[in-house]
Amino acid sequence: MEEFYGAEAPQEVEVQPPEVVSTKGCGSSLPSRVEKALKLKNKPMRQCKKCQEWGHHDSRNCDKFKEKEKMRSRRITDV
Ligand SMILES: [Zn+2]
Repeated sequence: MEEFYGAEAPQEVEVQPPEVVSTKGCGSSLPSRVEKALKLKNKPMRQCKKCQEWGHHDSRNCDKFKEKEKMRSRRITDV
C-alpha cells in the first residue's frame, strides 16, 4: 500500500525579528529587488504557451504576444 506522506516539515527560512535595532538611519529591510528575486526563485517555473519558454510569465503577459498585439493594433489604425 502506498504511504501517504503529508507530514513533511515546512522548511523554515531565517525569520527576522519584526523590530530590528537599526542604528544608522537607513533602517529599511531588504531592497525590493532582492525580495523580488527571492520570490521568483521560490516560484515554480512554468512554460509559456506562446513562446514555449520556461520562465515566470505565461501566455497572457508574454512579450512576444504583446508585440503581436501592438503590431495588430497599429495595422488597424493604419488602415
Ligand atoms: Zn512567453
